[in-house]
Amino acid sequence: MRTLLISDLHLHPGAPEITEGFLRWLEERACGSDALYILGDFFEAWIGDDLLDLAGADPTGNADLAARIARALKRLAEDGTAIFLMHGNRDFLLGERFAREAGATLLEDPSVVELGGQPVLLMHGDSLCTRDEAYQAFRAQARHPLWQQQVLAMPIDQRVALASQLRAQSGEANSNKAEDIMDVTPEEVVKVMAAHGVTTLIHGHTHRPAVHELEVDGQRAQRIVLGDWQPGKGWEIVVDGGALRLREIPLSQ
Ligand code: MN
Repeated sequence: MRTLLISDLHLHPGAPEITEGFLRWLEERACGSDALYILGDFFEAWIGDDLLDLAGADPTGNADLAARIARALKRLAEDGTAIFLMHGNRDFLLGERFAREAGATLLEDPSVVELGGQPVLLMHGDSLCTRDEAYQAFRAQARHPLWQQQVLAMPIDQRVALASQLRAQSGEANSNKAEDIMDVTPEEVVKVMAAHGVTTLIHGHTHRPAVHELEVDGQRAQRIVLGDWQPGKGWEIVVDGGALRLREIPLSQ
């Protein structure tokens, strides 16, 4: 029994080394696993599943990338690996169609799943950064079904423009934010873990891979943070038997 968890690959046509590294990782590592959890920001941006209709005719390369990744995941799923996809703050518009074409199941943020014989809380992690009030206000808007409907009804080129505008705004805003605002709020972590009755939390988003020991309701607990993928280097959590291990992994070029 082996389960793998990853997050924050930020796949996009401008970073082919990460795409190729991931596809090789799928064949060499993920193949034969019972389950694969992808905890958000799998894609650097996602403007809607109808992007898949543009495969072969999208000069930006986004549609071909999406179709290629969906095909690779589908092969893994057909070989017997259960694939779960959670939204991140960049690919929150990823929908049922992509999931279906990838042979994956969309997973709510947060979700409690059983890993290594214990309940584990899985999150992307952005909702834990409660000190970033400006971002939380945007998140509340962007997760609203009506806002999503309105955005998805826009022509594709308009959505592409909106996505790059949002990325530019967030980059500019983040460069002015204090370091600790960009990390999770410790009290929020304890609160959320206690509310879900877990002593293990796994999330990504902050790009600060680490295993943190903490206390929840008087019990020893741990928060395992997945790292972001870069050319030549990725992060995974391996669940083998009862143990959960965070590992930095080399990605073949
Ligand atoms: Mn994120």
